[in-house]
Amino acid sequence: MDTVFEPGRELSVLARADVVVAGGGTAGVAAAVAAAREGAQVVLLERGGVLGGLATGGLIALLLTLDDGRGRQVIGGLCQEIVDRVGAAGGEFHPPAGHWASSEAVLVEKYRRWGLVWGKDAPVRYSVAYDPEILAQVLADMVVEAGVDLLFHCLGADPLVEGRRIEALAVQSKAGRGAVVAPVYIDASGDGELFAAAGCAFELERVHPWMWFRAGGITDVSDALEQGAPFFRTTAADQVLVPWGLAARGGGKIDATDPRERTRGELDARRLALEEFRRLRVEAPGAAGAHLCGIASQLGITESRRVAGRATLTRQQADRDFADAIAVTGHWTRHGLVYAVPYGCLLAAELDNLLVAGRCISVDHPTHNATKEIPACMATGQAAGTAAAMAAAASTTGGQQGDASAVDTGALRVKLAERGALLGYPFAARAGEGG
Ligand SMILES: Cc1cc2nc3c(=O)[nH]c(=O)nc-3n(C[C@H](O)[C@H](O)[C@H](O)COP(=O)(O)OP(=O)(O)OC[C@H]3O[C@@H](n4cnc5c(N)ncnc54)[C@H](O)[C@@H]3O)c2cc1C
Repeated sequence: MDTVFEPGRELSVLARADVVVAGGGTAGVAAAVAAAREGAQVVLLERGGVLGGLATGGLIALLLTLDDGRGRQVIGGLCQEIVDRVGAAGGEFHPPAGHWASSEAVLVEKYRRWGLVWGKDAPVRYSVAYDPEILAQVLADMVVEAGVDLLFHCLGADPLVEGRRIEALAVQSKAGRGAVVAPVYIDASGDGELFAAAGCAFELERVHPWMWFRAGGITDVSDALEQGAPFFRTTAADQVLVPWGLAARGGGKIDATDPRERTRGELDARRLALEEFRRLRVEAPGAAGAHLCGIASQLGITESRRVAGRATLTRQQADRDFADAIAVTGHWTRHGLVYAVPYGCLLAAELDNLLVAGRCISVDHPTHNATKEIPACMATGQAAGTAAAMAAAASTTGGQQGDASAVDTGALRVKLAERGALLGYPFAARAGEGG
């Protein structure tokens, strides 16, 4: 391998805090807000200039799912608060509770056209279509209200590790290279950039890149959908969401953590999404006068690194509870399938003061399909943030300040429940029903 030597140097400290969160996607925002509401001083690093990650910049404007597919809500807490706040700003649409789990064909079709029902023989779910611009603003409001020290255009680059602890995080910002320092850190970077740089073990998946886009000026969206147009309704009456990806053009899978592969994927996806829009104008009903409202600013990557944590949730562990479960999630294509997420899935195995949240937590590939969804990312983010605040306050069962692995999971669960997380899923009763 071709190498150069990087000399050691002193870094100026940009911020000191109780908790540092790297990544301002939905998981990172939930983590930062949860930690701050527990009284921790929190620094949130985001490499871009907008919050929400894939849920805003990636135009993945659908929360799938907050329920179990049988009519019971399984994700609440910050996720529900965010839905309420986006709704209060006029930016969301979801089936009312009375429609959840309905298999009535008219209802299923109605919500399918919003992108809210997926999978074979699927019933109506508690899923939410939203306006990504409004979500970005709601997330920013929540971060500011919680008193989080938000640093945009600031990349969490190198964890400075000593033994089993991160002592500081070297960052790259508009001011150059510096450091942020805290007793506990959260990797919410989506691609697991902190745990990878810290030398933790992980699994890596190659995926097809996606590039969703929005189009406006469709003459009659209902009629177009009736005729099978390949897009979804949105909260703006004449605007549609096109869930387009490179696989549709025979593009191969990429390793999203490889700089060259990712660049090629991004260049190809952006160019071909524009072509796809032009094709849509010619071929899709009602789209002759359509205009492009925007192509995702962030490449759609469903999966890359997953940390190999203290616990790894597997497909075989679906429909099972855990004494240290910190979140529960349904599955967006398999109604009735429910996962409880053990706390150990958020803990890096090699380090004591690093938590992981969002799409890079420790699960196997089939389970990732459920835990990567935005509501689940918010739920694991809320849990990671709450645990980090507890660890920073040293309210642990032993170990050093910031030791996330020593957090009392019973006390953590109580705090999460007090903040609206839904942890009491009746797995045992379900088993009695025959699953
Ligand atoms: C094509 C596609 C379709 C999907 N469909 C759905 C759907 O319909 N419904 C659903 O609920 N979910 C869906 N998902 C999944 C969901 O969008 C993501 O898994 C989820 O948004 C991930 O959230 P996150 O916060 O973990 O990561 P991200 O959203 O990836 O956020 C990570 C954030 O961290 C920042 N960052 C990265 N590295 C650093 C660093 N080193 N320092 C500082 N900042 C950093 C990034 O800029 C980004 O803002 C889909 C995903 C894709 C790609």
